[in-house]
Amino acid sequence: MKKQIKILIDLQDCDTRIGELVSKKEEGPMRIRGLMEELKVLEWQFEEELNRHEACKKDRREVEQKIEDLESRVVKSGIKLDNVKSNKEYQAALKEIDALKREKIHLEDGAIEIMEEIEELETEYTAGKKRIKEFKGKVEQDRENVAKELKALERDLEMLEKERSQFCKAVDAELLGRYNSLRKNNSGFAVSPVIKGVCQRCHIGIPTQEFNELIRGEGLMACPNCLRIIYWGEDKQLQGETVPSE
Ligand SMILES: [Zn+2]
Repeated sequence: MKKQIKILIDLQDCDTRIGELVSKKEEGPMRIRGLMEELKVLEWQFEEELNRHEACKKDRREVEQKIEDLESRVVKSGIKLDNVKSNKEYQAALKEIDALKREKIHLEDGAIEIMEEIEELETEYTAGKKRIKEFKGKVEQDRENVAKELKALERDLEMLEKERSQFCKAVDAELLGRYNSLRKNNSGFAVSPVIKGVCQRCHIGIPTQEFNELIRGEGLMACPNCLRIIYWGEDKQLQGETVPSE
């Protein structure tokens, strides 16, 4: 029986390592997915900057057009001024020119602000483009690393699967069935050592008589609480690489 239990312990160890490798296999692709999300945000920000840049250029064209219109209105008002007949008309024309010139100054100030914003956006645009390029390079590099990592993990997994099938062959079929169903219902652990009378998986004490029986190691025993297959955790024969006798 001890030999069978020893195989189950090794099998559980093997299954634990397989589980670790399987979740490790998820890590790389998950990291890449995270980076792709980050890249999407960067690209979205860049797109926003581009749109703002376009909008600013449109504003600039509009303001320039308005300034041009004002200039021609100033010219027209100037002609009007030359042809006034009365002092009242003269005063009115002067007032009109004055108002037009003030409006023009106001528009020109606005145009300067827009130009400054365009300049700023162009700086941001260059920086954003560089940032995206660098980020893409990083993602590519990471993708390569992850692919390499995955290949190595696959190799290790294959080896462990082989090891696992060796253990499965060596264990009694009924016991293996029990092991597999226990494993499924007990977060991956079907076998538990009992040390100083306590099941190391569920931490419940085993009755003294049963613990003494476990130390003798004659039959297959289960934890009365978690139902896992138990063995004496301090049994030298069940530790290390030596194969215990039947
Ligand atoms: Zn237990």
